Amino acid sequence: MNKVIVGISASLALLTTPIVHGKNVIFFLGDGMGVSTITAARIYAGQQQGNPGEEYNLAFDHFDNVALVKTYNTDSQVPDSAGTITAIMSGQKTRIGVVGVDASVARDDCAAALKGSLPSIAELAEQGGLRTGLVSTARITHATPAGAYAHSPNRNWEDSASIPQQAVAAGCKDIAQQLLDTPYGDGPEVILGGGRAQFLPNTVADPEYPSKTGKRNDGANLIDEWLSRVPGREYVWNRQDFLALMEKRAGSTDTERQFMGLFEPSHMQFEADRANDPAGEPSLLEMTQFALAEMQKSDQGYFLLIEAGRIDHAHHGSNARRALVDTVAMSEAVQWAVDNVDLEETLILVTADHSHTMTISGYPRRGNPILGLVESQPGKPIKDATGLPYTTLSYANGGGYRKRRLDLSKVDTTALDYQQLGTVPMYAETHAGEDVAAFAVGVNADKVRGVMEQSALFEVMRGALFDSND
Ligand SMILES: [Zn+2]
Repeated sequence: MNKVIVGISASLALLTTPIVHGKNVIFFLGDGMGVSTITAARIYAGQQQGNPGEEYNLAFDHFDNVALVKTYNTDSQVPDSAGTITAIMSGQKTRIGVVGVDASVARDDCAAALKGSLPSIAELAEQGGLRTGLVSTARITHATPAGAYAHSPNRNWEDSASIPQQAVAAGCKDIAQQLLDTPYGDGPEVILGGGRAQFLPNTVADPEYPSKTGKRNDGANLIDEWLSRVPGREYVWNRQDFLALMEKRAGSTDTERQFMGLFEPSHMQFEADRANDPAGEPSLLEMTQFALAEMQKSDQGYFLLIEAGRIDHAHHGSNARRALVDTVAMSEAVQWAVDNVDLEETLILVTADHSHTMTISGYPRRGNPILGLVESQPGKPIKDATGLPYTTLSYANGGGYRKRRLDLSKVDTTALDYQQLGTVPMYAETHAGEDVAAFAVGVNADKVRGVMEQSALFEVMRGALFDSND
């Protein structure tokens, strides 16, 4: 696996001596998990336990080191996930919509991208002989996980059918292909997420949904290819096989193994819908348990990315409840990590790539259901200027726009599919541009403080992995 991608910067080429003993970084990213999402999810989780909720703490609320993080892209006041993950993974802010390339690269400019690739912290870890893992509830080719291994002037070039022929002719590869062709070490030890269709040909039926096929139009079956390239690789696509694999690996100390699980053709289910998945799929907690156990099978050190990728998708759908449930699911995964690592050897960093326009309105009484109407007492909704009740959670824009205020007094605003009101009509609710929070504990965590540029998080993680071998 020593093919070299053209254009990887000189700084990476210099780092050729494997590091014998690195430390560990677990990087949790809640996609679209703005501060209002954290507050609302905290209240939701507390209320699920029968308490008022405001006093509840998510796992990362207990971390001592917190910063505000500026998320803008170099050309956009309100960012996207591709530009922001590139800042975090590489230490350089870049444009909206591009991944793993510097700010000189215009969208869709393949030639520029080949010259402007930025090595990611995951690639530096692989290059240094550390173990790496990628876990996401989104497609593993989606912007955030792609930020660990891909370099593309367009985040949407996820498979051969999505990348223009002229870009292929110019030497660019689709993002799924880049996951196989990574020139760093032997590639990630653990890859878990969605996005099977990006790896399967359009002539091959999906195992879970036989009426669907893969998306690739180049005939390549990248799952078979991934398996055949290196001995000791294993692939699973449903919960039962995943749990069997987990059990098999529990007693094994064999580190010469790599694992890929792709549990949906596209994104994995929202946590709120997971129980209804036809073939069953693991939770973010279960994937975290597996990935962390694999990382810990050697003391080489590791970089593990864990993304709750669908908080963002629920918000885009103006659907606060699914966003909150996915945020609580990530908190459970964070707690598992806290309880199962040595914080003298490990940095745990939790942040978001960007916020969303969800807001928490006044003035519900203490303990008022976070998904409910704003009430001064149970059953006594507070009225707006037109005499109508309103919900605590709403959005500045999105599909929840209504031409006229509806009377919500008979509506179940806590229902799973309820869409909160959006002030400006949009087909999809948008990201928001205010700062996000970063929470850190363990090695180098004290560097997470004050108001930080998002790109500075790279140095916090790089320092934890490579500079603190005391
Ligand atoms: Zn988004």
